[in-house]
Amino acid sequence: MSLARTYLDWNASAPLREEARVAALAALGLTGNASSVHGEGRRARALIEDARESVAALVGADPADVIFTSGGTEANVTALAPQNAGGAGEVAAALVSAVEHPSVLAGGRFPVSAVRRVPVTAQGVVDLDRFARLVAEQRAQAPQAGLLVSVMVANNETGAVQPVAQVAAIARAHGAVVHADAVQAAGKMPLDMAALGADMLSLSAHKIGGPQGAGALVLASPEALKDPLLKGGGQELRRRAGTENVAAIAGFGAAAACAKAEVDALPRIRRLRDALEAAILAEAADAVIFAREAERLPNTTCFAVPGMAAETAVIGLDLAGVAVSAGAACSSGRVQLSHVLAAMGVDPSLAAAAIRVSLGTTTQADDIERFLAVWSALKRQIRERRSAA
Ligand code: PLP
Repeated sequence: MSLARTYLDWNASAPLREEARVAALAALGLTGNASSVHGEGRRARALIEDARESVAALVGADPADVIFTSGGTEANVTALAPQNAGGAGEVAAALVSAVEHPSVLAGGRFPVSAVRRVPVTAQGVVDLDRFARLVAEQRAQAPQAGLLVSVMVANNETGAVQPVAQVAAIARAHGAVVHADAVQAAGKMPLDMAALGADMLSLSAHKIGGPQGAGALVLASPEALKDPLLKGGGQELRRRAGTENVAAIAGFGAAAACAKAEVDALPRIRRLRDALEAAILAEAADAVIFAREAERLPNTTCFAVPGMAAETAVIGLDLAGVAVSAGAACSSGRVQLSHVLAAMGVDPSLAAAAIRVSLGTTTQADDIERFLAVWSALKRQIRERRSAA
């Protein structure tokens, strides 16, 4: 008999919500292109527009300013384009925090040479003084050039919440355009486009219990997007060409509505996460919890015990039925040292021991107990093996 698994990797992908599954399946059963004027087309269109309203409501935006994409990565690459950076004449530049998702770090459509990284503190939070200096420097070098700043709302590895509103105020004072990747923050903290002060915001359906392969770029105003990524067809008001993935979008809408209604669940998740961290520290006094002094998402912990290699721990936990991540999710199936921890100045040997445990709305105390039981046993085994060697 196989024991049910304990899933503690919600930041990599949240389980599909029942409401999202039902909405997506219902949409899959429909015929019709949402651009067609006949009844079938109009029914598909209605599902997309309903979803647009729910996604807009999640971040306090106008539904007309929501552009559906194939996910967070596409939303980020759509935002990061020289033409979206304003300015005139000179070559536009991008300032991105050093802890961004790889899809932002790569610079989107900016040439690599035009992308500069903004340092973070040892707590994994954008260093505002150094950021202010960098923006001023950039402005002094190219007073008329477009400048785009991209800072995530919360980090996927450590959960550290970034000072986006302060970043935006500084950026704006220098005439820069602001993009915020809210992929991990959505559903885990209240979000308000205007309060953040961002011109563009990225979202991803599968991080809030929607289907994989859907996301959105949300604009503060229709003029914010000057250069769409996919051009051709007239879909999404000519801002993203290609027939819409109606089923995924319908699922995204259902997930967004649930996520908005669920903010009450966050304190319970935070208590479970805090209890987990307290138990880890009680068991391993040398454990390091990353970004612990920063404001963090309530569901995320990233920690390391010196000498307990993340790869060994993640595989051992998996074999015992518990799913967690080693530092960053390994997109190629290979665990690489985290650029986030490196930017925080974490020693590579400690970073190699970092594991991320991320909780969600269905996580219960017995999931945490099971994680702790397996993790403690693994830790003992590793220590015994080392002392025997
Ligand atoms: N941005 C952040 C902060 C993420 O954590 C992720 C996914 O891990 C993405 C963007 C990419 O989103 P998607 O998987 O929808 O392409």
